[in-house]
Amino acid sequence: MTATVDNHRGAEAIAEAEQWTAHNYHPLPVVIADAEGAWVTDVDGKRYLDCLAAYSALNFGHRHPLLVAAARGQLDRVTLTSRAFLHDQFGPFCRELAELCAESQSGAAGEARGTAEMVLPMNTGAEAIETAIKVARAWGYRIKGVPDGQATIVVAAGNFHGRTTTIVSFSTDPEARAGFGPYTPGFRIVPYGDLEAMAEAIDDTTVAVLIEPIQGEAGVYVPPDEYLVGVRSLCTTHNVLFVADEIQSGLGRTGDTFAVQHAGVVPDLYVLGKALGGGIVPVSAVVGRRDVLGVLRPGEHGSTFGGNPMACAVGRAVVGLLRTGEYQERAKRLGAVLHERLGSLVGHGIVAVRGRGLWAGVDIDPTLMTGRQATERLLARGVLAKDTHGSTIRLAPPLVITSDEVHWAVDQLSEVVAGD
Ligand SMILES: *Cc1c(COP(=O)(O)O)cnc(C)c1O
Repeated sequence: MTATVDNHRGAEAIAEAEQWTAHNYHPLPVVIADAEGAWVTDVDGKRYLDCLAAYSALNFGHRHPLLVAAARGQLDRVTLTSRAFLHDQFGPFCRELAELCAESQSGAAGEARGTAEMVLPMNTGAEAIETAIKVARAWGYRIKGVPDGQATIVVAAGNFHGRTTTIVSFSTDPEARAGFGPYTPGFRIVPYGDLEAMAEAIDDTTVAVLIEPIQGEAGVYVPPDEYLVGVRSLCTTHNVLFVADEIQSGLGRTGDTFAVQHAGVVPDLYVLGKALGGGIVPVSAVVGRRDVLGVLRPGEHGSTFGGNPMACAVGRAVVGLLRTGEYQERAKRLGAVLHERLGSLVGHGIVAVRGRGLWAGVDIDPTLMTGRQATERLLARGVLAKDTHGSTIRLAPPLVITSDEVHWAVDQLSEVVAGD
């Protein structure tokens, strides 16, 4: 340990990364060396409160002891088998994850018909979305009776579902999409929150509606509860699968296990990722009804690493943490503190605040600074956050953050927007 803190090593590491990596990201100028809980330390010894939590992949904080123990224990046993063989973490992970989803449905309204009976594990979020798209199309052709090659999927404007060629085909963000064609057909884009437009877009070829119950990347847009209830009802009426992308909104972030629970609805397929890997390994999954996921036959879909022993061991530990309810409760209680504090800044350098639980989209007054500038100034004050679009920043701290730390982070933001 050096006695003085300077930013010497950080500057070198930034220059190296700049030279040797593709510039598909524009990271903030901080080089993290270690981390614990809600805090990270950079290579020069400066500490920062992590208010991004890897876009919610770190819901349980950095290096949660139970998750690290699960990973360590598995490292000493077996790390990879491929899906050519079963391993002893696979069945238990799938069962426990399905049970977590099923338990979350207990309070849902009568119209709900979804159940969580099967799991298809993958690695990244984008892969899980691709999986859901393939499953929905296969279900459409084999069960619903849509003529081959004609399936359509209704999605929402402003969506973020990942970065693969098929997924960016139905993005409305020019940065994500433009210049990467030709695009995959079969998607119909309707405005988020507009049930009438959705009803019009659905016809006999429609196999699924794919939406985020809260649009994260777009700036944390929370639709009215009636919207999700309406989507459920349209899907039920027209025999269309309701696919909920809960990759960012799920697993505790909003104060419940899943964001759809706030509206009391149950999707036909949950798409999960990010926090499912406990911030240690990429783990994603599609969870849903047996008559839907059951359409896949051996050889039709897969992934070498999907459902590997390390992923399943960590995933089981994540499910174990969620089954205590403690993290959902923290997100609810501390989210109320976060939103009360942020709300009081509206009109004082902040134009609007949206969100639920420990998750907020904050629109900074665009005449003051861009979102990027705000995050740079927060960084200088020891808070890690990320802009989404224009002058919007997103706050999503690990759910292990304390009340004092929430207050401190908002203090820093209020001083940044006050120009101090
Ligand atoms: C992050 C995210 C994805 C993509 O996940 P990756 O693991 O980055 O591929 C998909 N949908 C939503 C809502 C996300 O937030």
